[in-house]
Amino acid sequence: MIPELLGATQSVQALASLLKSANGLSNYNEILLAVTEVNTKLMNANAVALASQEQQSLLAKQLRDREAELEALILWKKDAELLEQVEVAQGVFAYMKKDRRGPFQSQPKYCANCYFSNRPSLLQESREDYRNTGLNCHLCDAKMVFNFYKSEIAA
Ligand SMILES: [Zn+2]
Repeated sequence: MIPELLGATQSVQALASLLKSANGLSNYNEILLAVTEVNTKLMNANAVALASQEQQSLLAKQLRDREAELEALILWKKDAELLEQVEVAQGVFAYMKKDRRGPFQSQPKYCANCYFSNRPSLLQESREDYRNTGLNCHLCDAKMVFNFYKSEIAA
């Protein structure tokens, strides 16, 4: 039991016995003092109970958050097993599905930086100056610019 609650309970018991022995208002000051003491202890116990409840609520939320992160990580690990590192352009690496078909340009590509941070991030293509192609990660702000996809050179 929380010490403040135990103290409050003992004070209530003391007050009850004091009230039983009270005859009229002869010991009014003692009763008033005991009531004040009980009230103070009850307020302290209430504050401790509220703080404890807040702490418990915070811990429960943190636990739910960790469970959601773990669930997402388990799902990502399962998806990550289907991917492999590919050199999509000279010196430019991304993760792509192992069972992909067709040219690299039309395949989903995942950021290598984010792959190692267990954060799946689909790369978005952009047109760059001098007819270059860009691959952009919106999670880690990585940007890779190159001339041609390797699969285009091979074709
Ligand atoms: Zn990234």
